[in-house]
Amino acid sequence: MVCFCFLVDQRRKVWRSKPVAGSCSRCGRGASVADIRTSTRFCYVPFYWKSWKAVMCTFCGAILRSYR
Ligand SMILES: [Zn+2]
Repeated sequence: MVCFCFLVDQRRKVWRSKPVAGSCSRCGRGASVADIRTSTRFCYVPFYWKSWKAVMCTFCGAILRSYR
């Protein structure tokens, strides 16, 4: 019997961040420039990675601005 699994999920991981001038528009706390790695997994096997940079709030996780 063939069993298809359509379990796709995405993991976002901040692996480096440093404080930057500015504050979060949602909670008003300090913002940081973060290097974020997003991995997309299919049946728990990662098949796609994307690294990107964004200004985000480390307290509430809001993305304030993203760079390409
Ligand atoms: Zn915030």
